[in-house]
Amino acid sequence: MTDRNFVTRGGTPWTPVYLLKIDPENCLGCGRCVKVCGRNVLKMIGLTEDGDICEEEGDIERYIMTVADANDCIGCGACARVCAKSCQTHGPAPELAAV
Ligand code: SF4
Ligand code: SF4
Repeated sequence: MTDRNFVTRGGTPWTPVYLLKIDPENCLGCGRCVKVCGRNVLKMIGLTEDGDICEEEGDIERYIMTVADANDCIGCGACARVCAKSCQTHGPAPELAAV
């Protein structure tokens, strides 16, 4: 991923901060982030008490948010602003290769 130059509509330089990862240990599964993302990047999943991914509602112990489609992220940072747990990591384009 190469560095790119972005600007606002008014021509001011602007650096997108893309969602790189979500810490599954700290995520509350509150769903606030997915509500503000307009790009379908995020997806809630259920986990069993052993931490395995589960689709059977009766067996789900807790929910966490995951990055389902990272390549659709536009780096707006809206999801970070609504997360009460600061469990998301964002970064500019040059950091994508390190994730
Ligand atoms: S930075 Fe913006 S586009 Fe990317 S996941 Fe967060 S809300 Fe969605
Ligand atoms: S806002 Fe934060 S705590 Fe809530 S689901 Fe999203 S990443 Fe998890």
